[in-house]
Amino acid sequence: MMEFQPHSTPKNTGWIEVIAGCMFSGKTEELIRRLRRAKIAKQNVKIFKPKIDNRYSIGDIVSHNEQSMPSILVVNAKEILEYLTNTQVVGIDEAQFFDIGIIEVCNQLANQGKRVIVAGLDQDYRGVPFEPMPQLLAIAEYITKTLAICVNCGNPADKTQRKIVSSERVLVGAADSYEARCRKCHYIPE
Ligand code: ZN
Repeated sequence: MMEFQPHSTPKNTGWIEVIAGCMFSGKTEELIRRLRRAKIAKQNVKIFKPKIDNRYSIGDIVSHNEQSMPSILVVNAKEILEYLTNTQVVGIDEAQFFDIGIIEVCNQLANQGKRVIVAGLDQDYRGVPFEPMPQLLAIAEYITKTLAICVNCGNPADKTQRKIVSSERVLVGAADSYEARCRKCHYIPE
């Protein structure tokens, strides 16, 4: 996995970091790693995720390797702005489930001098860009694409393979119904 290593940390300004990738690529793990390091440096950190996702414990962000951090559930992007007194670092997980308002919110927070770290699924199960991730990638100063390992052939994988037939874009709470695949091995089930 690519490490986030800016040559120097920006001074007197905020910025946006995006961690994008398929399922099982370690996005949330990487988000938690960065937020933990900020906490160790005694920075004031808050973490948000959209209310749609009830996969594990409500109110925690949890990576597939079961690291977790307490988070605040919000119904839309704008609600994030209500929680940020004295916050220096803002973490946002599952960004693909937010409305397009997340773009303005992230820009606003970075413009206020905050470090904003956003993780999300960059493509849906068909390999179609998952909005608002493309827009978030465009406004970010720093981008990390996390890759998984193709379950079929072992190549680097950036696609989320759905193993069951459904035309729903999202199957919440169904991690078992997915696996990581490379471009060559990925297909749309029908
Ligand atoms: Zn493959």
